[in-house]
Amino acid sequence: MTEGVGLPLWLLAELTYRCPLQCPYCSNPLDYAQHKHELTTQEWFDVFDQARQMGAVQLGFSGGEPLVRQDLEQLVAHAHQQGFYTNLITSGMGLTEQRIAGLKQAGLDHIQVSFQASDAVVNDALAGSKHAFEQKYQMCRLIKQYDYPMVLNFVIHRHNIDQIEQIIELCLELNADTVELAICQFYGWAFLNRQGLLPTQEQLIRAERITNQYREKLKAQNHPCKLIFVVPDYYEERPKACMNGWGKIFFTVAPDGMALPCHAARQLPIAFPNVREHSLSKIWYESTGFNHFRGDAWMPESCRSCPDKARDFGGCRCQAYMLTGDAANADPVCGKSAYHPLIEQARAESELDSTLEKLVFRNSRNSKQFTVQQNIPVQNITDE
Ligand code: SF4
Ligand code: SF4
Repeated sequence: MTEGVGLPLWLLAELTYRCPLQCPYCSNPLDYAQHKHELTTQEWFDVFDQARQMGAVQLGFSGGEPLVRQDLEQLVAHAHQQGFYTNLITSGMGLTEQRIAGLKQAGLDHIQVSFQASDAVVNDALAGSKHAFEQKYQMCRLIKQYDYPMVLNFVIHRHNIDQIEQIIELCLELNADTVELAICQFYGWAFLNRQGLLPTQEQLIRAERITNQYREKLKAQNHPCKLIFVVPDYYEERPKACMNGWGKIFFTVAPDGMALPCHAARQLPIAFPNVREHSLSKIWYESTGFNHFRGDAWMPESCRSCPDKARDFGGCRCQAYMLTGDAANADPVCGKSAYHPLIEQARAESELDSTLEKLVFRNSRNSKQFTVQQNIPVQNITDE
């Protein structure tokens, strides 16, 4: 065992990149359509067994849309038998009462459902799918009837942030245990659409104030619902401790078996190992990919001599790569970074006009076009 390396307590199983929705802020890779060779049921069982033996305790099933996998109930049952606490991270598309009951029987502990907006028109326009809102709404009712703890997740951006009251009211109506109001983080498709999604500072301040007012109100009522408000990196002056540190507790397995320290890391110019070729233990402790940004020996200035490096680990490697072209740089979110003006420029761009029609939707046609053209901006095409 490599000295000083922690345990991979959290396993994220990205079961598939397939998804019936087309969110323009999806964090899946832009070229997701070319990664098709999904792990089989048995291969996932093997991943779960190895991770559990290494000390993993939490298992998230995500994607894409994990319900696309018809073996999801089998995967949950196996993970449950191994002793994992299991969480389904879903758009709600593909859920039925039968599947909710089947997952309960399999031992699923927790469900997180994402919405795009508090009203059907905006929700369905952002999802790129008619009737998505109605489906989600009905499934949330059933999830609570089956007594699951339920998190409702809203990715907040400039097109829904002004409806924050309606969003919170909807979550209360649906009896959410926890509400995540997560201002868009800019990875994958969200980075491509950043100018059209980043809220203005004024919008952000208003939304946070209203959330705080609701918190006070709920507290006074002894209401059990918990509101989480996640401020976007782009309005911070110090970066987040991304993934709680590279290769510290998170282990992500992509649909084709690529092992990653975080779900966004696939884009980095690093050869990450595959669970089809190596054991999880070898990957976690010995691979170049997982050791690349452990510790602080890799840090250049301004991080190397900074007293905050033990707290934030220099921020997010993917953000540094996307904005500066070098993943070893300090995250430009940091006010001490020479690249911080890029963040200030993005904030200024949030004041420019933008409409939903200008957003590039996440779908296989746009993904294939992106793969062919590489960094050339894609023309928007809607899958219908
Ligand atoms: S963000 Fe939207 S498109 Fe991406 S996986 Fe989730 S539901 Fe599907
Ligand atoms: S210079 Fe580096 S370590 Fe210091 S606060 Fe900024 S990102 Fe964190």
